[in-house]
Amino acid sequence: MKDLSLSAQTIALHTKTPLEGADPSVTPIFQNSAFENTSPYFYTRKANPNSQEFEEVIKTFEEANHAISVTTGMTAISLVINLLDVGQTLVINKDIYGCSYKLFQRFVKKRKINLVILDLSVNENLVQIPNNADMILFETPTNPFLKTINIEKVSKVAKKDNPKCLIVVDNTWATPLFQKPLKHGADISLYSATKYFSGHSDVMGGIIVTDDTEIAETLREERFYGGAILAPYGAWLLRRSLQTLKLRMQEHQRITQDYVDFLRDIPQVKKIYFPQVDGHQLEAYGGILFFEFSDELIDPYPTFMSTLKLFGTGTGMACVTSMVAQPHSGSHASMNEAEKKEMGITPKLARLCFGFEDPEDIKNDLKLAFAALKS
Ligand code: PLP
Repeated sequence: MKDLSLSAQTIALHTKTPLEGADPSVTPIFQNSAFENTSPYFYTRKANPNSQEFEEVIKTFEEANHAISVTTGMTAISLVINLLDVGQTLVINKDIYGCSYKLFQRFVKKRKINLVILDLSVNENLVQIPNNADMILFETPTNPFLKTINIEKVSKVAKKDNPKCLIVVDNTWATPLFQKPLKHGADISLYSATKYFSGHSDVMGGIIVTDDTEIAETLREERFYGGAILAPYGAWLLRRSLQTLKLRMQEHQRITQDYVDFLRDIPQVKKIYFPQVDGHQLEAYGGILFFEFSDELIDPYPTFMSTLKLFGTGTGMACVTSMVAQPHSGSHASMNEAEKKEMGITPKLARLCFGFEDPEDIKNDLKLAFAALKS
């Protein structure tokens, strides 16, 4: 601003580098809440170039029409279940992330929703899906136990009686690179972007993907009025991480298979949980597994965890560094003992997320931790 009739204070306030012609090589962070009235963005709570670019990349990976980015994975789940009206019926799978389970419990009470919990990983159970189901929401692979659910079969059974029943898949643990739920009959797939999309435990986010324009418009409006949009810096970090998503997932897949073979020979491991990769719905898998300590060990987790030197013990996962966790005291801590028991979660269940450290270092670390356990 060169108008010399104005004071230095006014000029200082209005000084702005022209962006036209700046041509940055990557999209900068648009750390602005307001856009001029000539802009298509209107207001950052509605849309911003960073969240939009992140959404574009996810749409490309998932080969989908719409993606709506939000603050966290839990926000994505909340927005989606809020599509239900008072008195409708929600079916969820028995094995599910602890906070999702708690969210559903709270939500159904307030909204007077009829909640039905089924083990959808067993095909014979699908006949128990009520014919008035309005939404069926599940993870596949599940957290915990990594059970897989046949999306096509669930969708067929549910839509036979109620074509409007919404099939919702939390696809966080497969990512769109290994599984594309919309191609198998889901109406909505959603993600905690905090996990593999970030991959570095440094940002939270969530995203909802659908081919249905009406659902997408409703969700965008809810996001706008509810203020749930992903902030520009988070969106920028996530978009940047997506540059390496394919490389990371390929590497997760390669090394996790190797670690499964390694754990099979460990006498202190009773059972390993790894999903069934059918090559059709779930095209590949890697990154996270669960295992159970053998029966004779008494309270093994605290010693195991504290002996490990290379595994982070925080709440995160799906990261470039390895992590260990106990669902009983971590991801499912918000559930009471009876609920955990019903889900089969005991203190002897552990989760390992493998990062990209040298596999020999990780194996030696694990060997020492298992050797430290006393029966
Ligand atoms: N869905 C699954 C399968 C998860 O494991 C998690 C978190 O662990 C979430 C959703 C919630 O995601 P966020 O922590 O980003 O809210």
